[in-house]
Amino acid sequence: MPDRSASDLNVIHAAQLVRVLDRGEPRRGAEQGEMDLLADGAVAIRDGVIAAVGPTADVLARFGDDGVRSIDATGRTVMPGLVECHSHPLFAGERCNEYAARLAGATLQEVAASGGGIWKSVEATRNASDDVLLASAARAYDDILRGGVTTLEVKSGYGLTVEHELHALRLLEASRAITPIDLVISFLGAHVVPPDVSDGDRYTDMVLDEMLPAVVAGRMAEYHDVTCEEGLFTPAQVARMLDRSRELGIATRVHADAWSPSEGWQTAVAGGAVCADHLTYTPASAIREVGAADTIAVLLPVAELTYLCDRRAQARAFVNSGVPVAIATDFSSSIHATSLLHTVAFAAPWYGMLPGEAIVGATLNAAYTLGRNHDRGSLDVGKRGDLLLLDAPHPDAVCLGIGRPLLDEVVINGRPVLGAAASRPT
Ligand SMILES: [Zn+2]
Repeated sequence: MPDRSASDLNVIHAAQLVRVLDRGEPRRGAEQGEMDLLADGAVAIRDGVIAAVGPTADVLARFGDDGVRSIDATGRTVMPGLVECHSHPLFAGERCNEYAARLAGATLQEVAASGGGIWKSVEATRNASDDVLLASAARAYDDILRGGVTTLEVKSGYGLTVEHELHALRLLEASRAITPIDLVISFLGAHVVPPDVSDGDRYTDMVLDEMLPAVVAGRMAEYHDVTCEEGLFTPAQVARMLDRSRELGIATRVHADAWSPSEGWQTAVAGGAVCADHLTYTPASAIREVGAADTIAVLLPVAELTYLCDRRAQARAFVNSGVPVAIATDFSSSIHATSLLHTVAFAAPWYGMLPGEAIVGATLNAAYTLGRNHDRGSLDVGKRGDLLLLDAPHPDAVCLGIGRPLLDEVVINGRPVLGAAASRPT
């Protein structure tokens, strides 16, 4: 048998190929749900990069060389690897008792007053050893991979001092070695205002004068993520952080309107953030007023469920206004949602989205939020060979499969990393 690269692969006879072809910008409006399906489709990957996409007969005519590893996808759906654009995987401690208290009727404020909330995770994370933190991240990455994720955004934000935030970013960098998933690192110094600083302006100064310059100088993160939320950081403080980030040349993301209408969406758009995430309490009037925006709305349905929110983000209003929408899990110390595939399934009924709208939100649009649209998020020639095989003949089945193990195979850079092909010798 000829010597073939371990990252050469043919996937053939897909019942449906979900291509989500990249047209040079994130999907919005009527295009949000277009999956560009192809029956009996195939993908040829050479040296980890997609070399051909099309009908199986056409692809095999050009790339049917002997000796290339091949997966027969008869009866199955083949789609781009999922791109998770919002996660907080580096933390220690356990907060399931808080969730039980919340379900019994306690408010977020009552939980925080009794020593719970994000601050509890910050204290546990500061006191944890590197080994403990990396072992916990490794388990999360493994579970996240089993939810179909091939690219993962990972945030700091459980340190909240210069020393602890920079250390978290170094650990996230080191954690690349423990997963086949490609990581994109965000600095989230302005996650909450820590009670040991307590003054939002003073803490904003710390982020801007001490943390951010070190992060940028050391190229420790690709994104600066900030929270715009009543009781945490004000629109004026967030605007300062977005402006300073632009001056320093680091792109921004915003945690916005998760617990109350806080002008987070308007502030993120005005400040040129790549995306604004949560948006649960963004009023319809604000969405209409802002209109079509280049800032991508990242919606987190499991966060809304777990926070016991009394409303949901207005996905339809964003789509109708011409705002690109992405879907993510918000995996964190308080939300143990690891499966983006199941989150996509859940997002459809939760928001009244079509399956295609949710799938595009977790592939191409999510890739745009991470500046990775040039090489992933769709099955286009020239992009990375990152794809999934699902045990379902049509991608719409994803949304009926909450909790069902539909994921058969995960391929990253042309290499099967999960599933039957991954356990076969090359
Ligand atoms: Zn978050």
